[in-house]
Amino acid sequence: MNKIIEKISKAGWSFDNTYARLPNILLSKILPIPVKSPKLIVLNEKLSEELGLDFSLINRENLSQMFSGNYLPKGSETIAQAYAGHQFGHFTLLGDGRALMIGEHISKNKKRFDIQFKGSGITPYSRNADGRAALGPMLREYIISEAMHYLKIPTTRSLAVVTTGENIMRENKLPGAILTRVASSHLRVGTFQFAAINGKEEVLKILVDYSIDRHYQNLKKDKNKALSLLRSVIKKQVELVTHWMRVGFIHGVMNTDNMTISGETIDYGPCAFMDIYDPETVFSSIDLSGRYAYFNQPGIAKWNLARFAETLIPLIDKKKEIAIKIAEEEINNFNNIYEVSWLEMMKKKIGIFGENNKDKELIEELFNWMNNKKADFTNTFCFLMERDFEKKEIFKDSNFIKWHKRWKIRLNQNRKSFNESIKIMKDNNPQVIPRNIKVEEVLNLASKDMNLKPLEDFLEVLKRPYDYGKKLEEYKLVPKTTSQIYKTYCGT
Ligand code: AMP
Ligand code: MG
Repeated sequence: MNKIIEKISKAGWSFDNTYARLPNILLSKILPIPVKSPKLIVLNEKLSEELGLDFSLINRENLSQMFSGNYLPKGSETIAQAYAGHQFGHFTLLGDGRALMIGEHISKNKKRFDIQFKGSGITPYSRNADGRAALGPMLREYIISEAMHYLKIPTTRSLAVVTTGENIMRENKLPGAILTRVASSHLRVGTFQFAAINGKEEVLKILVDYSIDRHYQNLKKDKNKALSLLRSVIKKQVELVTHWMRVGFIHGVMNTDNMTISGETIDYGPCAFMDIYDPETVFSSIDLSGRYAYFNQPGIAKWNLARFAETLIPLIDKKKEIAIKIAEEEINNFNNIYEVSWLEMMKKKIGIFGENNKDKELIEELFNWMNNKKADFTNTFCFLMERDFEKKEIFKDSNFIKWHKRWKIRLNQNRKSFNESIKIMKDNNPQVIPRNIKVEEVLNLASKDMNLKPLEDFLEVLKRPYDYGKKLEEYKLVPKTTSQIYKTYCGT
């Protein structure tokens, strides 16, 4: 056997590739396309450890060969997955056009993870595109997905980024790169849409069982598994979007192919965190109508879940009208479940316990004030935890003073100490997020000048977003110009 393969196979890989055994229609078995001269840029040691992988005895050259797909560890089987999706509301057949799954790795604690290369070359689903990715966007996905993980938000993760030694053509010539993405699976709403459009009820059934096996084992014995799966995915997605709203995250491209069955955030394209609070914030340059704006995210999640429900109709009940009625009821429940989830989360952000029928109003008033005052989303909640915060210029405002009085009265109804309020606020209000200004700064230095130190420092800071003991002023700075000018781009 090739010496490199021998070496890279000793990292502790334990593959069990169940997706590759699913019906042929769902995937294409293809080989990676070799790249010219791969070079390892970042390796996530903490994640490697969590996966039970030890790369310390493999030299950088061989790691570069492995994370580029030039050589693959024993047991890997490379596939591209088929899927479909509603992109900005329009249905399209898609699939991994620039991604390749190298296998499912079983970690020491018996958890299953998809290991996938993104930017690995053309596949049968590439349509007219090149199957490649540029270094900037792959490092961007690395930064933001890892930040999300440490913000305690379900997400796919990033294990490594390599450059390929080849240029790719976008508006300019850019260095090509491959990201190794780790996910609890890549099952998407779009995967079900693909099976449904092909009219294969049998395949849908297999997908339901497979999803339950991977993510919702507690549903295994349920009578109506499709319905139980729908209900569980709705719940998971409500939890996920609630988290996004908590930290001011805007996904930017909530197409149905970018919504997972596991409830993990996936596909970090034109996403960004909001600086100034404005519910209509949109960063994506192509989202002209604001479909995926901050405040629209729950509604879009519901819309996507309705598309998911549609695919399950044939399995929910033999009688179509009955199945539709049942599915509609589930989808209509979304608003109630989300409302409860959002309110619970927001109460934690302002440190209130117990029930009061004016809580929602109190929270909305704060948001209105923030919006009018153009207050920073993250910092406002952090300030509320500081001693004497009212002395800050921004809070010397009659509307805020009124709100502050109401908040203090409500805090007094907590029947818990103020320290407990502060604790729950600190656990839910990050003091550091990957701010656009900082993300761009470190990406520029990394991808244009190959200066990786600022990126590495930033990644370290993002590992402890709730650590209030740290002095992190540099990372909390709000840009002087409004964040609305900040644009993110698709087709990365
Ligand atoms: P995304 O916007 O990243 O969710 O991608 C939407 C679809 O376009 C997916 O099927 C991708 O695989 C595909 N895609 C995006 N970029 C490329 C590319 N450079 N080459 C081939 N397919 C791509
Ligand atoms: Mg996608």
